[in-house]
Amino acid sequence: MRNIRRVGVIGGGLMGSGIAEVCARAGRDVAVVESTDAAVDAARQRLEASLKRAESRGRIDSAKEVLQRISVVTEIERVADRQLVIEAIVEDEAAKTDLFRRLDEVVTDPEAILASNTSSIPIMKLAVVTRRPGHVLGIHFFNPVPVLSLVELVPSLMTDPATTERARTFVQDDLGKHAIDCQDRAGFVVNALLIPFILSAIRMLESGFATAVDIDQGLVRGAAHPQGPLALADLIGLDTTKAVAESLYEEFKEPLYAAPPLLARMVEAGLLGRKTGRGFHTYT
Ligand code: NAD
Repeated sequence: MRNIRRVGVIGGGLMGSGIAEVCARAGRDVAVVESTDAAVDAARQRLEASLKRAESRGRIDSAKEVLQRISVVTEIERVADRQLVIEAIVEDEAAKTDLFRRLDEVVTDPEAILASNTSSIPIMKLAVVTRRPGHVLGIHFFNPVPVLSLVELVPSLMTDPATTERARTFVQDDLGKHAIDCQDRAGFVVNALLIPFILSAIRMLESGFATAVDIDQGLVRGAAHPQGPLALADLIGLDTTKAVAESLYEEFKEPLYAAPPLLARMVEAGLLGRKTGRGFHTYT
């Protein structure tokens, strides 16, 4: 099994820049592909800020040295020579299938792994649009990527076992993460459990049973959670929370996955949580 030295990351947003950072910190040459020049600048700034923070906290010797291993561009051809490409673009099935079709044309190494960081789209839907479904799998990181150690490995029914083992070796031995294995079902392990919990907290708030502050304090002080479910939804983003809930509902048709009206109204209002300054709590 060949070692993975050159990594491509498609999408340099919240997750893509985090994935690029951990790969570069592990000594890999990383090419990030973004959609516009403005998004390239934003991704570079995000990477620089995060690496400077890591340097000031003594977690890395030199932010500059790590940054030298990362290029951020708009040309997808830049990932042609990669041994692993991880997709982290918007959670939109049509956008992701288009991208996997394109990656299949662009990436030259027939042994290269094409991975998705999707939270809820079945990996099979991405695998079948390529001519190499055996080399496609889900590698699902958690936010913030440089901090949280978990990675869910999600082979589809068509993924070669050798591909999964190569991905496991990379995330565990090279990136120092902890991998768990999941079936190719919406939500995998963590979101399938976490999203109904968050939705229950929203229903509790919506029914007037308790305030947002008291619901969160209940779980922090009474169950030793690091943050309450409503604060966690604000951190994930209410739009993302709703999108993942909808994927889970579509897959299982269980009421516990149905997005409550309050969540839908808040997303329509643009109250998306931390990223917009207001969700269930306000952020200044
Ligand atoms: P984001 O909106 O922060 O980033 C997405 C980026 O992709 C944007 O910068 C956008 O410009 C870029 N992009 C869109 N289309 C593109 C294309 N065709 N080519 C290149 N770049 C393109 O989103 P995010 O939170 O980083 O989520 C990305 C993926 O990771 C989603 O699939 C999401 O479900 C998954 N995910 C998110 C979280 C989370 O907590 N936010 C956690 C785990 C997984």
